[in-house]
Amino acid sequence: MNPLQVLTDFFGYNKFRGSQEAVITAVLQGHDSIALMPTGAGKSVCYQVPAMVVSGLTLVISPLIALMKDQVDALNGLGIPAAFINSTQSVSEQRFISEQVLQGKVKLLCVAPERLFSGSNGWNGFLQKANLSLVAVDEAHCVSQWGHDFRPEYLKIGMLREAFPDIPFLALTATADPQTRKDIAEKLLLKDPLWFISSFDRPNISYQVALRSDSFQKLMGFLSGRSEDSGIIYCLSRKSVEDTAEKLAGLGFSALPYHAGLEKEVRDRHQDLFIKDEVKIMVATIAFGMGIDKSNVRFVVHMNMPQSIESYYQETGRAGRDGLPSEALLFYSYGDSVTLTRMLENADSPEYVEVAKAKLAKMVQFCQLNSCRRRYLLTYFGEKPSEDCGNCDVCFRAGKQLDATVPAQMFLSAVVRLGESFGMGYVILVLRGSASAKIQGAHKSLSVFGIGKSQSEDYWKKLGNALIREGYLVSVGDPYPVLSLSPLAWDKLKSKEKIQLALESDEFRQGLVGEDSYDKGLFEKLKNLRFSLARKLGVPPYLVFSDATLVEMAVHYPEDAMAFRRIHGVGQLKAERFGDDFLRLIRNYIIENQLKPKKPMPQPIKKAAKSAPAGTVSETLRFFERGLDLEGIAQERALSPKTVEGHLVDLIEQGKIPVGSFLTVDEVDEILGEYRKQDTGFLKPLKEFFGEKYSYFELKVALAHHAYSKRTGQ
Ligand code: ADP
Ligand code: ZN
Repeated sequence: MNPLQVLTDFFGYNKFRGSQEAVITAVLQGHDSIALMPTGAGKSVCYQVPAMVVSGLTLVISPLIALMKDQVDALNGLGIPAAFINSTQSVSEQRFISEQVLQGKVKLLCVAPERLFSGSNGWNGFLQKANLSLVAVDEAHCVSQWGHDFRPEYLKIGMLREAFPDIPFLALTATADPQTRKDIAEKLLLKDPLWFISSFDRPNISYQVALRSDSFQKLMGFLSGRSEDSGIIYCLSRKSVEDTAEKLAGLGFSALPYHAGLEKEVRDRHQDLFIKDEVKIMVATIAFGMGIDKSNVRFVVHMNMPQSIESYYQETGRAGRDGLPSEALLFYSYGDSVTLTRMLENADSPEYVEVAKAKLAKMVQFCQLNSCRRRYLLTYFGEKPSEDCGNCDVCFRAGKQLDATVPAQMFLSAVVRLGESFGMGYVILVLRGSASAKIQGAHKSLSVFGIGKSQSEDYWKKLGNALIREGYLVSVGDPYPVLSLSPLAWDKLKSKEKIQLALESDEFRQGLVGEDSYDKGLFEKLKNLRFSLARKLGVPPYLVFSDATLVEMAVHYPEDAMAFRRIHGVGQLKAERFGDDFLRLIRNYIIENQLKPKKPMPQPIKKAAKSAPAGTVSETLRFFERGLDLEGIAQERALSPKTVEGHLVDLIEQGKIPVGSFLTVDEVDEILGEYRKQDTGFLKPLKEFFGEKYSYFELKVALAHHAYSKRTGQ
């Protein structure tokens, strides 16, 4: 199998991201390589995909024992035979796994570094016998004394390098300072390694710093409206962790504490509840997070300033690994730097104190910035960003304002039409054309009724708040505040001037998810289904599907197995395991809500995988119309027949080629009859039923025709 095929079949992604492909190519060509990528960029794919391409064993060295089981579970869930060996297992378990490895039943084996050199060191012999073909060193910065996670065992990896001179080593890390980089290459004894340095930008994370006065009030404001989101709140001391968690829980938030002073059992339980989405907020010291690979963390709050930009970046980096918009909020007070400096001065090594103080000063500077925060972070890590980000608090304030003229006019008109006598909630119901019984009859015939349907309630709330903040709307009255227009707003309306609003990250969010944002109702249902499946299987929900994958379903409404398989993050195995449940839910949702699919499906994987040269399908159509058959087109276009088949199936689905070119009416009926009878939504059982009678291509043709007629009602 080639790497792309592994990516699509097992992971369900249709293209490589960033430097993944380059790294994988280097590895497969046998080079030693070093990949520096920020958290969430997809480092693991860089060795997981080669593991399935090369013939022998891929060894993954990782210091995070807690993470191994998750990673291995996730891989097995994708159909990749993986295992781990570490000290949490009994001797007989370890022996069992070793045997599996020797029998070639394991493609990817995770171990902690100490394992490699423990005991009689029979490991090299074992690895020889296991046909070792690739070594991935995860968290490679642990080899450097300069880093904050130095692990002496990592220094011994060099010995493994020498014992296996002909096998490629791949070192991966998300930590970037120049000294550590140098150490990685030298201390691991890598041979002329190729460097792959990705940008450390995490564009989906929005950075914000706020002064710490009234921090708890500010925190409440931040958390309200995020009750469905997972997040981490970091506090400096165990005591403040406990206090904050207790206060939040007392106010009805789903929050639990985590710090090293808690019983291990309690800690593990809290962490587990968080990972499984059963608890939304983890209030923690920085002891929490190292071993966490939860992709849908939507926010990270620091109640105090971290000690260095590196720590800050690593901790905030735990947000938004799934690529969806996420928030990093830091509360800062000058007192923090005084406290931290004092703590530092107790350390015994003077050199360490010097380095640490310098790092602290950089962190203070970050908090006090009057310029783009992302720019500062990226510059710190050696990049040269060319422009401000527009997605941090400084950019928001600095008038990186968006043109909100149209929605603002809608909002203001609605307030006027309602006689300036209603509150925000009611105005939004009217804008969205709500069917709520609260709406007075006369208001349903207003011209503004329902003009804001396409945006969510949340969006309008944020816009309304921005209008208040910027002095366009006045909200007075207690306990039922009523909205009215300020003179400024009247001026703007009369002069038809543009209305610019400094939209906070939340409104920005909408833009990032895409202007047609997803169906929130469906998304919630999908999440519930995911939750109950995960519970049944005893795994964290994100192992079933990531949030990003569910969001895509809530955009595209896949109705059959083929469409489902095209959703990002749906691989072969997961489609087979979970397809039925999710498809049933989506179909019911469509019926209940009388929806027609509103967006065309993403392009089939086959096309996208070839980076979809636009027009290649229509090119096939032209040849077809000139009378060439499948083979003929493949030859003429120097494409594989499989690719051309894919084009033809697409064209049938689009109604551009009649199904009659490939099948008779009776044949179509026969195939579709059986398809309905089986009601699995999958091709494989259909093929098994018909055996040699129909090829996969012919079955796909019939189903494509079916999809076309269903869509057009023909
Ligand atoms: P890292 O180890 O760099 O923090 P991960 O390997 O955990 O990142 O990947 C982060 C997320 O991105 C995971 O959910 C992963 O499945 C996803 N991902 C990785 N590669 C791709 C890709 N090519 N396309 C889409 N998603 C990807
Ligand atoms: Zn910025």
